[in-house]
Amino acid sequence: MKITFLGTGTSQGVPVIGCTCEVCQSLDYRDKRLRTSVHIEVENQSFVIDTGPDFRQQMLRERIKKIDAVLFTHAHRDHTAGLDDVRAYNFIQQMDMPVYGTKPVLDQLEVEFAYAFAKEYYPGIPRISLNQIDGADFSLNGINITPLPVMHLKMPVLGFRIKNFSYITDANFIPDETIEKLNGTEILVLNALQRAEHISHFNLQQALAVAEKINAGHTYLIHISHKLGSHADVTKELPTKVSLAFDGLQISAS
Ligand SMILES: [Zn+2]
Ligand SMILES: [Zn+2]
Ligand SMILES: [Zn+2]
Repeated sequence: MKITFLGTGTSQGVPVIGCTCEVCQSLDYRDKRLRTSVHIEVENQSFVIDTGPDFRQQMLRERIKKIDAVLFTHAHRDHTAGLDDVRAYNFIQQMDMPVYGTKPVLDQLEVEFAYAFAKEYYPGIPRISLNQIDGADFSLNGINITPLPVMHLKMPVLGFRIKNFSYITDANFIPDETIEKLNGTEILVLNALQRAEHISHFNLQQALAVAEKINAGHTYLIHISHKLGSHADVTKELPTKVSLAFDGLQISAS
């Protein structure tokens, strides 16, 4: 299984528009963070988790020629805004794009992309097929996906485990039942927004505590704000089994 980090930034991305802080002015390519999303290649299948506002740019950068399905974690705009651009894959693959999400997520997609679900078909709109999931395991083209329910302040969000790769974006609480589902995972991806505490995301200290508890082979941190610090500076203080992810990073998992 090959995993590519498409974006590793928080909702505003890094650099933040108009910001003159050290991180936003950094020349290090690892401090350029598009909105958070990941691409997974497994058994000739190609999945993305979320389609944020930078989806088009991410697909072009990674030269992704096929997407078999989109998995949605939640319906915040920084995770859904790019859905319109699945049109390119509708055209190439000559099929509706299967998307997977909980009922509240699918309902929100129908509101935000109402034109794509209009009764009267307008040529050129994105073609999307909605597939409702809940907390239960499901099979996606023969691959078992384990949803990982977590909380993002008061909003339920799904992470996903595929084999030994486990991905949790926007969260500030992981219930015990989900901790159990992470047992033995080789790779854990976890959000770590900034140093200060935040109402709906783990900060760095909380993310490191979760990483230590789950004790994956390696933990990668995502959904990073400019307030966390530069990639190079933060990296110096992380334990050996934890890294900041960065855009374009590729890893493998079994
Ligand atoms: Zn987010
Ligand atoms: Zn900044
Ligand atoms: Zn969110």
